[in-house]
Amino acid sequence: MTAKTKIEWTQETWNPIAGCSVISSGCDNCYAMQMAYRLEAMGLDKYQGTTRKNASGRTLWTGEIKFDEKALMKPLSWKDPRRIFVNSMSDLFHEDVQNEWIDQIFSVMALCPQHTFQILTKRPERMRDYIMSRDNVIHQKYSNVRGSYTIGFLTKYLTTDPTLNNPKYRKLHDNGHIWQVWQETLSNPAAERLYARWPLPNVWLGVSVEDQKTAEERIPFLLDTPAAVRWISAEPLLGMIDLTRIWAKMPSGGKCLCNTLRRNCDDNLDWVVVGGESGPNARPMHPEGPRSLRDQCKGTNVPFFFKQWGEWLSVYDRDKDDPGWRRIPESKDNNTRFINLEGGHGFHGQKVHFIAKVGKKAAGHLLDGEVIQQYPGDVVCPYCNGEGEIETDNNGPIVSCPICEDTTDE
Ligand code: SF4
Repeated sequence: MTAKTKIEWTQETWNPIAGCSVISSGCDNCYAMQMAYRLEAMGLDKYQGTTRKNASGRTLWTGEIKFDEKALMKPLSWKDPRRIFVNSMSDLFHEDVQNEWIDQIFSVMALCPQHTFQILTKRPERMRDYIMSRDNVIHQKYSNVRGSYTIGFLTKYLTTDPTLNNPKYRKLHDNGHIWQVWQETLSNPAAERLYARWPLPNVWLGVSVEDQKTAEERIPFLLDTPAAVRWISAEPLLGMIDLTRIWAKMPSGGKCLCNTLRRNCDDNLDWVVVGGESGPNARPMHPEGPRSLRDQCKGTNVPFFFKQWGEWLSVYDRDKDDPGWRRIPESKDNNTRFINLEGGHGFHGQKVHFIAKVGKKAAGHLLDGEVIQQYPGDVVCPYCNGEGEIETDNNGPIVSCPICEDTTDE
C-alpha cells in the first residue's frame, strides 16, 4: 500500500484524539502542536481550543483534549492492511484522555485484525496500568452480550452512536466489516475469542524517549506492559542512550540493570526507531547518537530503523577528517556550529563535529551511507537462529536469548 503520511515507519495516521500538553524536552518543538494551531486557524472543529499563543507569540497547547467520534471508525473502512500510527497528533495516554475513549479506540483496533496499529506515548505508566487493568475491567464494563469488550462496544455503538445518522457510517454498519464481525461473534464463540485476545496481537506499544534520563524513566514501564511488540522511538534524539544499561523493575519487585536489547530480567525491546528533529527550531542530533543505537542493536534480534537526520547534518568529523586540527571550520552564522558528545558546542570536547543546518530533505536518511529501515520480524535471533534453542559460544552459555523461552543463569 502507498503510504499516506510522510512518517517513514508507518503508512497511515489515525487521530481519534486531539490536544495534548508538553511533558519533557522532547516536546519543546512538538510538530503536532504547530499543526493543531494551523488546523484550528483553518476552522477544523476538532482542534478548536486545543492551542494558544503566549505573550511572545509562541504556540502552546492549552491542555484541552477532544475525542473525535467520527475519526474513531475510520480504520474499519480501510480494507487494505496497513501500518497505522495511532494519535500522531496527541498522546493516547495523556492524563485527560478518558478511559472510555481509550476503550473505544482499542475496540476498533480489535475489530481490525487486518491492520497493525502503532502507538507511542510519553506516559508509559498510564499505558501499563490501562493495559493491565483492561484485561478484566473491559469485560465487566461492556459485558452485556458475551463478556467481550469488542462485542460490548459494538452493541453500545450500534445502538447509541450518533454517527449512525451519517450515510457513510450507516453503510459501514449495514454492509461492512463491523456488522459482519458483530453477527459472527454473536453466533460463534470462536470468533469472539479472535477479536478479544489481550493484549491485542495487532497493536505495537511504544514509548518516545529523547535521552538516557527519559529512557530510564519510560522504558521500564514499557517492559512491564504486556504487548505483542514493544518499541521505542528515539526522536528527537537529544542525547546519547545506552539501551544495554537501563534500570528496570523485576517481576519480583526489585530492580536490575537491564540490557533491554537482550532479555535478562523481563522481556526485551522489539524495535528501535531513531530520528533527528525537524522544523524551524530543530535541535541537532550528535551523529554518535544514532550510530551508537545502531551498533547496540547489531548482533541482537532487535531491528533498527533510522528515520532521518532532521535539519542538521555533520559536514566535518574532527577525529576522522582533521585529526591534526589543521582545517578547523569557522561558524559564521546560526546555521553552522560545533557539537560534541557532551551536547556542548565547544571544539575541545569528545567526538567533535561541525554541523550545518541544511534542511531535512538534504540531510536525508543515510546512516554512514546506508539506508537502515528494519521492522519487527526482519531480524533473526543471532543466538538461536530463530530455532528457539540456546547455544553456547566461546565465552560459555549465552545468558539469555531474546526470543527463546528458556534462559540460563550467569
Ligand atoms: S507528548 Fe507528543 S503530542 Fe504531546 S506535546 Fe509531547 S510531543 Fe507533542
